[in-house]
Amino acid sequence: MEAMEIDPETNSTGKDEGKPIMVLLVGAPGSGKSIFCDTVMRLSTRPWVRICQDTIGNGKAGTKNQCLTGAASALREGKSVFIDRCNLDREQRADFVKLVGPEVEKHAVALDLPAKLCISRSVKRTGHEGNLQGGKAAAVVNRMLQKKELPKLNEGYARITVCQDEKDVQAAINTYTALGPSDKLPPGFFGQKNSDAKVQLGIMKFLKKKEPPGCSDTVMNVSPENIRSHASKEKDSNQVLESCEEPKKGSVDSSISLENAPTLAFPSISTADFHFDLDKASDIIVEKVEEYVNKLGTARLVLVDLSQNSKILSLVRAKAAEKNIDSKKFFTFVGNITKLYSEGGLHCNVIANATNWRLKPGGGGVNAAIFSAAGPALETATKARAGSLSAGKAVVVPLPSASPLFSREGVTHVIHVLGPNMNPQRPNCLNNDYVKGCEILRETYSSLFDGFKSIVRNQGEPSKDNLEKEFKGEVQLEQGCRNGEQKAKREAVCEADMNKKYKSFAEELGPNVGSSGDGNTGGQRRKAWGGWAQALYDTAMHPERHKNLIEISDDVVVLNDLYPKAQKHLLVLARVEGLDRLADVQKEHVTLLKKMHSVGLKWAEKFLSENNSLIFRLGYHSVPSMRQLHLHVISQDFDSNHLKNKKHWNSFNSPFFRDSVDVIDEVSQNGKATLKDENILSMELRCHRCQSAHPNIPRLKAHISSCQAAFPAFLLQNGRLVRVEGKDANH
Ligand code: AMP
Repeated sequence: MEAMEIDPETNSTGKDEGKPIMVLLVGAPGSGKSIFCDTVMRLSTRPWVRICQDTIGNGKAGTKNQCLTGAASALREGKSVFIDRCNLDREQRADFVKLVGPEVEKHAVALDLPAKLCISRSVKRTGHEGNLQGGKAAAVVNRMLQKKELPKLNEGYARITVCQDEKDVQAAINTYTALGPSDKLPPGFFGQKNSDAKVQLGIMKFLKKKEPPGCSDTVMNVSPENIRSHASKEKDSNQVLESCEEPKKGSVDSSISLENAPTLAFPSISTADFHFDLDKASDIIVEKVEEYVNKLGTARLVLVDLSQNSKILSLVRAKAAEKNIDSKKFFTFVGNITKLYSEGGLHCNVIANATNWRLKPGGGGVNAAIFSAAGPALETATKARAGSLSAGKAVVVPLPSASPLFSREGVTHVIHVLGPNMNPQRPNCLNNDYVKGCEILRETYSSLFDGFKSIVRNQGEPSKDNLEKEFKGEVQLEQGCRNGEQKAKREAVCEADMNKKYKSFAEELGPNVGSSGDGNTGGQRRKAWGGWAQALYDTAMHPERHKNLIEISDDVVVLNDLYPKAQKHLLVLARVEGLDRLADVQKEHVTLLKKMHSVGLKWAEKFLSENNSLIFRLGYHSVPSMRQLHLHVISQDFDSNHLKNKKHWNSFNSPFFRDSVDVIDEVSQNGKATLKDENILSMELRCHRCQSAHPNIPRLKAHISSCQAAFPAFLLQNGRLVRVEGKDANH
């Protein structure tokens, strides 16, 4: 494949350069929309136009059509536009979204401030452009708020920001103010710690405790949007996750670790197609969840249904509330079980499939949906584990990474279950024998949760022995195919599959990571790669799905680091499956390491030709935060707002950063690179040039902005620093 080069400056092919943005402000009168626009426009370097319905008729109130025309003409001129009108419901917003095509980025900023605040501001203000002020304002604002419908991504926005208090508003103002003419903001749903009032009430009811709005980060039968806000925090939480600072107790960030907890999403078994009584089924679900939820540690169970009005979800919620089941570990979720992450932002590494006895695609409902979303890989993997399934049983199937459910949704296992059938139109009908039916349904949930428990246990215990033990545990759950030879064959297939799966799913520091920081002392540890940590893997495996890549070849993909820690910061990704991090690298990878180095060097040299004062280092983090081997190419100015904490600094300026040249030497000689563990990241902050110590990042940054001392001797050797020959030669 020919290498495709893209301008790294603009992060684009040129087509996207300076793409105008249309921001729909969403908010009641008094929510601060006009002040928002005015502040950004006063301070921003991007050309903005404010389209305000209150003034569009020659300084007087105009029509929506005038706003549409005004917006279209400003956008045509390449300007970015604020649509400053209430836009409180989807219908009001739709015409603006339809107005322009992909040549314009569409954003929504919802100023979702408390109704009381908006009303009191509207009542008190004077000289309002639209003359909505004084006593009449209260009733108008109140009426408008009844129609409030927060924007959703599926309306067509690339980015939505929801502000729920003044601090959020200020943060959004800062974000848009900082946006230069050719900058682009990351897409996604940001903000909204508490969802809208109706949902929040539901959560309160379920929790049976009173928490002031905004304090709760518990999600209980929430809409995908609500979860999405957590997810976007999680996705955007590279900083949070990389941060050394302890998240504040009770703050939203404290839930992030749970977001990464192993999670099983399961549909209600037997209640749809098999016509099982809903009341009885909900009793059993809650009974079994209660039995298992504490056995599962931090792992979560999520009952999923497509419909917002699902009877089974509401029965289960009510009964779970009565039993005070921990809502962080068990909750219900409305969404498509095959799109929980991509559409709902909910990370579930395991999903349950209510299947048929033949373990075959087809039928309707969840079985058809899961087999179809997973592609043929699931059918093949299922066949390798079992030929059939009897009622009450489960079979755990590791999902091959070729499956879109794996790559898109982060699902690593599907657990097929077969529940009792009360539908005369389906095989093995129990003819309303609920004694037997309830017994089988209990057994079904036990098998399902045992299967999930075995997966969770494996994630915590990495040794091969355990994988084997675990595999055998799973086999006991299977029905059919029990004769010795077949079993042995299956074990072999599955062990290989499990090992492959865990390799790609878990982060393993490997035996060459020393707890002392000296390397090679043996401690092993695994932790799951969260969905947020898969982005580079997905980019390397499917570059066609990603924008803003600056080079693609058969061996590597090059992109700008999304959170650059210096003026120039690129990542060179290896395009080899199973090469998650430096600990996986072996002798056979030396050629690839050299290729990555030469590509990184080529880009560093390109940047040097444009700015000869830059100096580069190329290297790997001993323990990466993101899956897929990647080489950092980073300029040594460390001039970046993204460099925020000790961990960021020390990951590039301590022995934790392994220079590419040394890695190549070590792997060529010893078959592996020496790695340093993460403890080293808490060491004191020292200037990378003069080695002076500094108490905090701001002080360190102030120092390095002017330090011109020579680099330490070790960096001057073996080509570790890349710079223009003769430039700063004494340094
Ligand atoms: P490491 O600690 O070596 O895994 O570094 C991962 C790097 O990936 C960090 O420098 C992040 O800023 C960067 N990063 C995280 N997410 C993305 C992304 N989606 N695209 C590009 N870079 C990313």
